[in-house]
Amino acid sequence: MYKSLNSLNERIIKCVKCQRLVNFRESVALKKTKRFIKDNYWGKPVIGFGDPNAKIIIVGLAPAAHGGNRTGRVFTGDKSADFLFKCLHQAKLSNQPYSIHLNDGLVLKNVYMTPALKCVPPEDKPKAEELKKCFVYLSEEISYLENAKIILALGKIAFESCVKLFNLKPSLYKFIHGAEYSISKKLKILACYHPSPRNVNTGKINEEQMLEVLNIVSKC
Ligand code: SF4
Repeated sequence: MYKSLNSLNERIIKCVKCQRLVNFRESVALKKTKRFIKDNYWGKPVIGFGDPNAKIIIVGLAPAAHGGNRTGRVFTGDKSADFLFKCLHQAKLSNQPYSIHLNDGLVLKNVYMTPALKCVPPEDKPKAEELKKCFVYLSEEISYLENAKIILALGKIAFESCVKLFNLKPSLYKFIHGAEYSISKKLKILACYHPSPRNVNTGKINEEQMLEVLNIVSKC
């Protein structure tokens, strides 16, 4: 399993299938932003990380421009990560309440985390053909996570990507925060609002709601 996942990840990191996203991820890495001006940005596709034997898979949308695209790890070094890891730690699914850089000592517990789209899209809006191209990676990746019992899909795009992955009828699988569905004989999916600053600041999701969702997946 590890060998297959490792070789998949090696292929993903070299991927240049979506020219628009290749240009964008590299231009963000070159221009940077003021507060991270001294950092060496990753600027490449961002692979999954965590425990390949985990029962819980957390699927996000894509790396953030100055988060994962900078640090090289999904949900690392941005506001979404601050919120998510505070909650993951409270739910005992990570060893620390922060995810700030690759060598910060973070260990996920019973969790594997990955973006549905491996490259940062402009304005967080991927095109359908980009999702389609990247979808093959997500599909292969999930096939290696043999002990998984539940997918926690963060946001509508991540949720819909997973529904597509299992050839399910979208009309029967609606993205509703907290809704849980069976998607195969051994796997369930739970929909959750993305922990983006916009959703957190507007009150669409708060720590209590996120913890409720994390407690459900922890019990699987
Ligand atoms: S989004 Fe996926 S398919 Fe497109 S370039 Fe990045 S890794 Fe490749």
